[in-house]
Amino acid sequence: MDIVDQIKEQARISEVLQLTRERRQALDKTIMDYADEFLSNIRKLKAYNSPEDIGEEDYFNVAQGTLTGEEIIGVLKKTVDHEGINPASGGHLGYIPGGGIYPSALGDYLAAVMNRYAGIYFGGPAAVRLENALIRWTADLMGYPENALGNLASGGSVANLIAITTARDAQQINSLNIRESVIYLTKHTHHCVHKAIRIAGLGECIVREVVLDNDYRLDAHALELMLEEDRGKGLNPFLVISSVGSTDTGAVDPIDRISDLADQYHFWHHIDAAYGGYFILVDRLKDKFRGVEKSDSIVIDPHKTLFLPYGVGMVLVKHGQSLIDAHYYRANYMQDAFNANEQTSPADVSPELTKHFRGLRMWIPLKLLGIEPFAAALKEKHLLTVYFHKRIKSMGFEVGPQPELSVCIYRYAKTATPNKFNALLLERVQDDGRIFISSTTINGVYWLRAAIVCFRTRLSTVDLLLQILQENTQKLLKELIKSG
Ligand SMILES: *Cc1c(COP(=O)(O)O)cnc(C)c1O
Repeated sequence: MDIVDQIKEQARISEVLQLTRERRQALDKTIMDYADEFLSNIRKLKAYNSPEDIGEEDYFNVAQGTLTGEEIIGVLKKTVDHEGINPASGGHLGYIPGGGIYPSALGDYLAAVMNRYAGIYFGGPAAVRLENALIRWTADLMGYPENALGNLASGGSVANLIAITTARDAQQINSLNIRESVIYLTKHTHHCVHKAIRIAGLGECIVREVVLDNDYRLDAHALELMLEEDRGKGLNPFLVISSVGSTDTGAVDPIDRISDLADQYHFWHHIDAAYGGYFILVDRLKDKFRGVEKSDSIVIDPHKTLFLPYGVGMVLVKHGQSLIDAHYYRANYMQDAFNANEQTSPADVSPELTKHFRGLRMWIPLKLLGIEPFAAALKEKHLLTVYFHKRIKSMGFEVGPQPELSVCIYRYAKTATPNKFNALLLERVQDDGRIFISSTTINGVYWLRAAIVCFRTRLSTVDLLLQILQENTQKLLKELIKSG
């Protein structure tokens, strides 16, 4: 075969990659029908299903041949979209739940169909401007100045990594001073921060845990004493990480006070508000954010409290130039991709070059529905948590502090072995599956958690959880009496 015939032969085989209009429309219908069935039944679907061993692994092996669209949906329905937590369910009250508002899915669809390049301004100027506008909107909410910059990363973990890398360079931490340099955090700092510290090459720093007060917030006075003591020893306190909405209890650290200490001791104040950030949209909670504008960097997850599907976390850095300095790189083969009057490109402020055009999945819902319903949903989740806290207490449970945002910790303590009892209670709730909750251990005490973050969680959901907890507590108590 000559080369032209070979080219034609390969084109014939690969033609299938460009779906015909008929095939595309048939596939669209199969998938849209499936999505519609899922969403129409979402209230009836369980929040949790334990994994089943049904030997479907061959379906997942792409080397085993092809399936039709219907067959593919069939596989997903009984595997991926069945087993484990159902994060789209309003009954997901474990860990920090996600969301999955529908217009976001269409944003992802369009982003994928058009496949716009959102990494470098030259390639997709409007795509980059759209993402920058979302970053600017959030920076305005936080009271950050005009020269602040940020990035839409894949989630809170990567966003925290970007912030910590930036702090490292801005504070000039290097091989000469790393062993005397000190990072301060608490026992309730999210574990992704510890990962980020290691990945950013800061593993040799001194990492100190600041004690928590009775409401599980960083104790600012204890921090001040530590800073004073460490400075006296000739150490270099350079980074304090606070939380606005800790994962364990939803506690909000005294950020205003920490920023004042940052002025005095010249450290970088990073706020991990991955979960709590967008609660700033709720008027009655604004006070919790007092002084937020004084911090150096913030992480906020739109895939938590803006109810977007998984895949987007935001980092903001007040002095935008520090973010650029820590991430900027130019390669020769990109010499024609830059000009002077362009906006900051995502590639200049993150480890990524080519990336998902995440902005669209955030911009479409906000532009289509407006900000108000998001603020209302967040206020509702806060009020639901306050309601749950009150009701579970009146059912005889021990409760943690008044919920600051939308996490409540509680446990049934009127037994000889409460840790064991509550672990059993959690198992029963998970077996039931209509509501999914998780737990945590604080100072050796096992607590159940309710994190009310999903936009589909309603008063009826919370009442159902209360009912499930009450029924299973009674049952367990009876079983315990019987077994002596
Ligand atoms: C969820 C969360 C993270 C991690 O974010 P991912 O989006 O899961 O990577 C970090 N910090 C806090 C406080 C969180 O709630």
